[in-house]
Amino acid sequence: MIQAPRGTSDVLPDEAARRELLEAHVKRILGAAGYERIETPVFEDTELFSRGVGEATDIVQKEMYTFTDAGGRSLTLRPEGTAPVCRAYIEHGMHKLAQPVKLWYLSSFFRAEAPQRGRYREFWQVGAEAIGASEPETDAELIALLAELLGAVGVRGTRLHISSLGNPETRAEYREELKAYLHAHEVELSEEVRSRIDLNPLRAFDSTDPRTREAMKDAPKLLDCLSGEDAAHFEAVRTLLDDAGMTYELDPTLVRGLDYYTRTVYEFKSSELGAQSTVGGGGRYDRLMERLEGPPTPASGWAAGVERMLLAAGELPTPPSLTDLYVAVAKPGGGPTAFQLAREARRAGLRAQLELAGRSLKGQLKHADRLGARYVAIIGDGASTSLKNMESGEQRELSTPEVIPTILRGSRLS
Ligand code: AMP
Repeated sequence: MIQAPRGTSDVLPDEAARRELLEAHVKRILGAAGYERIETPVFEDTELFSRGVGEATDIVQKEMYTFTDAGGRSLTLRPEGTAPVCRAYIEHGMHKLAQPVKLWYLSSFFRAEAPQRGRYREFWQVGAEAIGASEPETDAELIALLAELLGAVGVRGTRLHISSLGNPETRAEYREELKAYLHAHEVELSEEVRSRIDLNPLRAFDSTDPRTREAMKDAPKLLDCLSGEDAAHFEAVRTLLDDAGMTYELDPTLVRGLDYYTRTVYEFKSSELGAQSTVGGGGRYDRLMERLEGPPTPASGWAAGVERMLLAAGELPTPPSLTDLYVAVAKPGGGPTAFQLAREARRAGLRAQLELAGRSLKGQLKHADRLGARYVAIIGDGASTSLKNMESGEQRELSTPEVIPTILRGSRLS
C-alpha cells in the first residue's frame, strides 16, 4: 500500500477548517498593519539557499531536498522563506517602491529532518518581512504582530525570548574570545563540548552537563560585546516592548539556525509543545540583501510554524452548519430537477447540496440531518416539491420555483 512519505501528512477537512481560521487571523492582523501577500516558487536555484541561508548551517549542510533537473540545473525545495522573498525583492526592483516593503506569506517548506511531534519534512509557515526598514520600531512592531497572531490563534503557554547578535564583525571577534575562554577552562568542560570548541563554541551554552553549565556562567556573553550602535538599537527595541507592556526573557544564548541574522533575534516558545517548543521566531537580517547581490537594504522578519501553532492552540471553534438546503429526490427520475434546484439555490447565495449517493429517501433525510441542513427539498414528480424545515420539523408542498424564495424569506412553512 502506498502511504504519504515519512514526515509528510495530509490535511484532512477538519484540519483544513482550522487552517482556514488561522489564515483569516493572519490576513486580518497583518493586513491591518499594511503587510501584503507574496508567494514564491516551491523550488529555487540551490545557490539561493547556500548563499542566503549560509553554507555552514545545518539546513544547508544536512536538510535540503536538492535535485538536478533535466536541464542539469541544481534546484532545491525551499527550506525557508526569507531568502526567496529577498530574491523576489531584488528581481522585481522593489527597492524602487516606497520603503519599507511589507510582505507576508503562508506556504509549505521542506527540510530533511528526523520527524517527531512538531517536526516534519514538509511543514507550513506564516512569515512576515519588512524590507527597507532599519528602525527599532520595525522589530518591535513585528514582535507585537507575532504575539497578536499567537494570541488570536489561541496558542497557550507562550514565552518570548529575545537577544541581539550585533553584526558579523563583532560576532567573529566574540567567537575568538569565547574560544579562548573555553580553552582556558577545558578541564571543566564535558568531552562533547571540548571536542567542538573550535567548530562550534556557541553550542557550549546549550550543554546540559552540570560542570559545563557552572563553567559557562562566567563565560563572555555576546550581548556584552556589542558595538555602541548595535547596543543602542537593541536598547530601543527593548524600551518599545517594555512600553507596550510585553514581557520577555533576555536570552544571551539565543542563536538562530540561520547565518543571516544581525542585531535583534527572538523566539516564542510554548510550554504546550515538547522538545520542539519554538512556535515562531525571527530577527533582523541587514546583510542578506547584499549576500544575494542586491542593493544594501536593512530588513527584519519572522516565521511561525502552522502545525506547531495549531498543536499548541486549544480547540478552535468549529464553524456552524455549512448547508442551507439539501435537495433530496423521492422518486427515480427526479435527479435533473434536483440538480437544477441546487444550482439555482447557490446562485441565490444559499449553500446547497444534492443527493449524489443513490440513498433511499429515509437515508437522504438522515444524511441531511448529519450535514446540519436547515431545509430539505424533496423533489416529487416534476412540478411539486415538499419543503421541510429541519429545525421546526414543519413540512409543506410547494411548486418547485417557490422553494428558493420561501427559504430566502425565512418565512414559516405553514
Ligand atoms: P525557522 O525558519 O527554523 O526559524 O523556523 C520557524 C518556525 O517554523 C519554527 O519556529 C517552527 O514553528 C517551524 N518549523 C521549523 N522547522 C520545522 C519542521 N521541520 N517541522 C515543523 N515546523 C517547523
